[in-house]
Amino acid sequence: MVATQRIDGKARADRLLAAVAAASAELTKRARAAPGLCAVLVGDDPASRVYVNSKGKAATAAGIASFRQTLPASTSESELLALIAKLNADDRIDGILVQLPLPKHIDPQRVIDAVDPAKDVDGFHPQNVGRLWTGAADRALVPCTPYGCLLLLHEALPDLTGAEAVVLGRSNIVGKPMAALLVAASCTVTLAHSKTRDLPAVLRRADIVVAAVGRPEFVRGSWLKPGAVVVDVGINRIAAADGKSKLVGDVAFAEAQGIAAGITPVPGGVGPMTIACLLRNTLIAACRRRGWEAPQL
Ligand code: NAP
Repeated sequence: MVATQRIDGKARADRLLAAVAAASAELTKRARAAPGLCAVLVGDDPASRVYVNSKGKAATAAGIASFRQTLPASTSESELLALIAKLNADDRIDGILVQLPLPKHIDPQRVIDAVDPAKDVDGFHPQNVGRLWTGAADRALVPCTPYGCLLLLHEALPDLTGAEAVVLGRSNIVGKPMAALLVAASCTVTLAHSKTRDLPAVLRRADIVVAAVGRPEFVRGSWLKPGAVVVDVGINRIAAADGKSKLVGDVAFAEAQGIAAGITPVPGGVGPMTIACLLRNTLIAACRRRGWEAPQL
């Protein structure tokens, strides 16, 4: 039995937000203009609206000018691409974030490809993806959720060198960039997915588990190696005993107690880090666009 550390994502995100706000105030003084972040929302998906609202509020609180472009679901791909071109050329804007998912008639990759890589604060543009995988993360903008996961891992494990890491899920926004970051941190990385054979056996090798599957409490306590550090990316809404609903992660949190050395809770783990890392990227983009060295945040 080990004492399991609850890795507090809210507290870590608050520290990062405070550092971003301080750096943003410095930049605003020096540049005589605040860094700017523009969110592009197409359609009326309620969850996307909530995400965009909370990103906007967090940006304003950190001293970042928040812009928003809201377009109807009927917007054509060429209209959206024309807007992206306008934002690319707008000097007030350092970061462009296109809220996904987009309506079905728009190819998301075309839109991502159209964003100026220097303003791609989601880190999804092929140039940023390539830089991350070729060991040039210091010149890339790194995807926010995986970078937040890395910061949370460091809360429990200051040195990741040589650790066996299993990333569960191979999406472009979480699993793959997470694997790239762990390779860069000198872990031995396995990227597992729905076709992986004998997943419990693969996970039992892992000193580090990052779960991003989107299935409630999918990873069982008995699949974890004693002493493993677990980062739970999943956000799943399930029915609760009182007839209401609640959020759970991709890992059975209660079962991990006494086995894992550390685990992030859901909510209050990775979620708050994602927004904080988005603002960190905006600040980095704002510094680089002016030819200034970005602060270490
Ligand atoms: P996604 O694109 O749906 O990818 C899910 C991945 O899980 C896929 O690679 C899939 O494998 C794998 N998978 C599905 N079922 C599996 C199974 N039975 N066994 C093994 N692997 C399985 O999801 P995502 O966008 O990466 O998001 C994952 C979760 O993280 C979701 O709950 C999402 O809400 C959450 N999320 C949270 C944040 C945050 O800020 N906290 C940010 C982003 C995402 P295949 O590739 O083989 O299909």
